[in-house]
Amino acid sequence: MTDSTTDGASMRPDEKTIFGHPRGLYILFFTEMWERFSYYGMRGLLILYLTQHFLFSDERSAVLYGAYTALVYVMTIIGGTLADRYLGQRKAVTYGAILLVLGHGLMAFEGSGSREVLTYEGVEYQVTLDGRGGDATQLIISDSGQSPISFNEGASDMIIAEPSAVGLPATIATDTYTTRIEKQALFVNILYLALALIIAGVGFLKANISTIVGAMYGLNDTRRDSGFTIFYMGINLGSLLSSLTVGIIGIKWGWNWGFGLAGVGMLGGLVTFLVFQPWLEGRADPPSVEKLKQKVLGPLNVEWACYLTGIGIIAFAMLTVMNAHLVPEWFVGVLGIVVFMFLVGYALIRLAGRERNRMFAAIYFVLAQIPFWALFEQAGSSLTLFTARLVDRNIFGWSVPTPVFQSLNAGFIVLFAPLFAWAWIALAKRRWNPSAPVKFAFGVFLAGLGFLSLVAGISASGAGLTAVYFIFLIYWIHTMGELMLSPVGLSAVTKMAPARAVGLTMGAWFLYSGLSNYLAGVIARTTGAETIGGQLTDVAAAKAGYAAVYTNVAYVAMGVGVLMLLISPIVKNWMKADDGLDAV
Ligand code: GLN
Repeated sequence: MTDSTTDGASMRPDEKTIFGHPRGLYILFFTEMWERFSYYGMRGLLILYLTQHFLFSDERSAVLYGAYTALVYVMTIIGGTLADRYLGQRKAVTYGAILLVLGHGLMAFEGSGSREVLTYEGVEYQVTLDGRGGDATQLIISDSGQSPISFNEGASDMIIAEPSAVGLPATIATDTYTTRIEKQALFVNILYLALALIIAGVGFLKANISTIVGAMYGLNDTRRDSGFTIFYMGINLGSLLSSLTVGIIGIKWGWNWGFGLAGVGMLGGLVTFLVFQPWLEGRADPPSVEKLKQKVLGPLNVEWACYLTGIGIIAFAMLTVMNAHLVPEWFVGVLGIVVFMFLVGYALIRLAGRERNRMFAAIYFVLAQIPFWALFEQAGSSLTLFTARLVDRNIFGWSVPTPVFQSLNAGFIVLFAPLFAWAWIALAKRRWNPSAPVKFAFGVFLAGLGFLSLVAGISASGAGLTAVYFIFLIYWIHTMGELMLSPVGLSAVTKMAPARAVGLTMGAWFLYSGLSNYLAGVIARTTGAETIGGQLTDVAAAKAGYAAVYTNVAYVAMGVGVLMLLISPIVKNWMKADDGLDAV
């Protein structure tokens, strides 16, 4: 954090405000709104793009998706540290936004996609999808024509709808043909580079923009929490708008149109930030301009060395996403343990007394988010595939495109955040406001309960498609959990960590958020079903697979939630401030 965390309780007399908040908050609101518009818009399409356009298997796609969404948040610790020490948050956010415009723009170059070639009795056919998302029809194409295909129960036979058009029998046994996938190497590499640019971009932008929100207020400024709530609504407004536009356009018109629109949104964010950055009133400037201009090597100064580090992150991220399936799962666990030991070591060696205890509380919050996101983040991967394949998405005669369901979470946040903000204040007046660790326990419990309700929906549907209300229900329960945990966590972490370590702890918050995304990818992979040409072959087996995994994770999370409730008094005790007051 920069200087402004210690500048007192009340607003300066000359401060320019809009609706009672510093003008700068609204710049951050709109920049982050557009950044999240591009991030969530692209993310809503990604798993479908990987499985249907590039024909990656479910397992490979889930791992790639998990690695991408993990790295996006892991890299914020580097972006945050560079900004704290050298660049200042304003320059870091600008650089991040430029990388993001490039990354999202590059996603719009899709090529013609991978081809699945089927060989039957020495003759080659192409298996492809007509359309995108859950409404795509699977086709087989021969030299003479094309025909829709499907599979029987158990997937032992492929059924050709118009055999004469393609010159094949009406039914062919699945063990009498072989398939192979031909990839366009150039476009697969463009995909990897685009993902790497986005990873570095978010790495420079995400933690730093949250830090600037904090810098707009003094530590004891009573508007601070409300400022974070407004900012969190900006995040979700971006997400909501994108799933209703990028998601629909990407499915209906073509992947490149969806990704391109995400890029245009991010350009809007960059322009907003560049034009209005004077409103930040220098509160996110580099800590020392002299240090920034210092030469490191030949003509290279510190500022450019920071930007070059960004290029290094891009190279590293590209290699990692390309080889995500080779990264051993224990590596991520080891990274989590090393960072945990570093944080605890920092608290033990550099801090003492109440300050140390409050840092312990911050570390607890940073870790306690893991079970929540690991379940919640199924939304973009396994739950998206489940919704595309096994849910009756017809609402009033309209087959709703799968990515549109991503808007439910953001929509519920925009609707319910003001209610929660009001409820916390109303409860606090009666001294009934639950403490942050209790809210966290409820958040994790609700993540599990959401999946249990979906499993109930799967069982109720018998052999048919699951009713769409259960998708509404799981997103609603998960959103209630998110409101108990995510904004509460950001606020608690910035309050509990000592001022000189807020940047580090904020970076750690996002890092563990990222590691949880990876864990979410691992869970998603266990739900992976058999596919051909990006469509399910055995529907009943896939359904049973989803139900089994979702039941297990639900019970584990609910158990962890109960455990967290039991230990919450210990954490609450750590949170006590110097003046002996409870910090809730
Ligand atoms: N949905 C929030 C955001 O996009 C939280 C993300 C997270 O911490 N994993 O900022």
